[in-house]
Amino acid sequence: MKRMYVGGEWIESEGKQTIATKDPATQEVTAEVPRGGKTEIHHAIMAARKTFESDEWQDFAPEERGRILYEMASKLRHSAEEIAQLETMDTGKPISQARNDVEAAARYFEYYAGMADKIFGETIPVQANILDYTVREPVGVTAHIIPWNYPIQIASRSTAAAIATGNTVVVKPAEDTPLTAIKLAELFDETSLPKGVFNVVIGYGDEAGSALIHHKDINHITFTGSVQTGMLVMEAASRNIVPVTLELGGKSPNIVFSDAKMDEAADWIVKSVIQNAGQTCSAGSRLLVQEEVKDDLVERVKNRMLSLKMGPGIQDPDLGPVLSEKQFQRIESFLNIANKENASFLAGGKRAHVEGYENGYFLEPTLLDGLDPQSEVAQEEIFGPVLSVFTFKGEQEAVHLANATPYGLVTGVWTENIGRGHRLAKKIRAGQVFINNYGAGGGIQMPFGGYKKSGFGREKGLEALRNYTILKNVAVKM
Ligand code: NAP
Repeated sequence: MKRMYVGGEWIESEGKQTIATKDPATQEVTAEVPRGGKTEIHHAIMAARKTFESDEWQDFAPEERGRILYEMASKLRHSAEEIAQLETMDTGKPISQARNDVEAAARYFEYYAGMADKIFGETIPVQANILDYTVREPVGVTAHIIPWNYPIQIASRSTAAAIATGNTVVVKPAEDTPLTAIKLAELFDETSLPKGVFNVVIGYGDEAGSALIHHKDINHITFTGSVQTGMLVMEAASRNIVPVTLELGGKSPNIVFSDAKMDEAADWIVKSVIQNAGQTCSAGSRLLVQEEVKDDLVERVKNRMLSLKMGPGIQDPDLGPVLSEKQFQRIESFLNIANKENASFLAGGKRAHVEGYENGYFLEPTLLDGLDPQSEVAQEEIFGPVLSVFTFKGEQEAVHLANATPYGLVTGVWTENIGRGHRLAKKIRAGQVFINNYGAGGGIQMPFGGYKKSGFGREKGLEALRNYTILKNVAVKM
């Protein structure tokens, strides 16, 4: 039985209740984890608060915080294969993608380790006899709510930035995929990080998650997940005037002009929508293509999709199963709507049966054509390997279509005309624009976050440090 990590101790839930995690490829139970709730969340926040206010943590040298984060990066790399296997067991994703996730997690620790002693304010010219300066202080106890699609990466990116800046953290992983957050706690436990800086409570969203966001003693919430839950987070945070960083969903387009390098574009477009079986917030789930090259590009995309291999994540296929029956049903309901709306299924659209893994929810990579750009399927995040195709005549229409959803996370622009690339980047309402490339998830140094319903605040890169620091101005009369 796995345990939660609170105040440097390994604990069970008060009522000894547990949750079973399952391998998405087989639906077999892989672990029993404690079902924490209000009590455990309260204990974790109190432990984080006590440590935050302790002389030990307040006096902890920034470079020492950095040294521990560097140590975490090295520990993650040392246990990389074990952690990747846990991630695949939890999420179902292909093992090579899980290995990339572990390496990205290590890079987050390394990146923010280097920043721990480089966070400082400014002096501001005022009057001759006033010395005015700013300092950046940690915000305090930070709450981190993690989704199930990239558990190790997302838990690492925000907690590394929060600890680098001198905060303490309480992590609530998704109940379906808690194993790598527990592993992170095991690794922190081997370092000299003071007890109570890093805490993990496992539990259901509407129990443990809800208790965390409503608690009066937290100072910041980082939430990654759906728009619906994001709204609940904002509402809860508003009651205690707690700042939030929201990383929500997307309906990100790839815009392909007739002068683009078609093979390159087709490779990236397919890769971006099948990565993690399409369960990626920045998946390029809409293809906007200039009319005259539609047939050519669609043929290339379709051929690539039809050649993809599906299987259990551990065998490293191109696509693993989707997370659960619930996720599969959600995707299927969108495909049923597409069917009713007379969309053409150019590829896929059905559950795939993988020999020996009949219980896994594998979905054929799906290519839809003929949808109205305003239809539900074209507007809403499906969170599966489903790509919808639309055409445009010129730049103006391309920008209009790209911006015509409630989301604004990522956009890819494919053109050999670099002036056009820049013009589009300016007009696109999204937090990240890739020109002639498309990195679902982006690099760790690139600030990442949304416009519109994709959320606000930025994770990754130096921008994330703003989430976890608060600016104080000091004016000294001399
Ligand atoms: P979700 O249902 O919103 O869950 C996200 C997290 O919130 C989970 O830990 C969940 O716990 C917790 N939660 C659920 N209800 C809660 C409540 N009432 N109060 C507090 N916490 C609660 O989303 P998901 O299905 O896990 O993730 C898919 C969504 O996340 C997609 O929309 C995707 O685009 C988005 N996402 C965005 C990014 C990004 O960086 N922009 C990255 C990854 C995913 P339980 O799971 O234990 O219930």
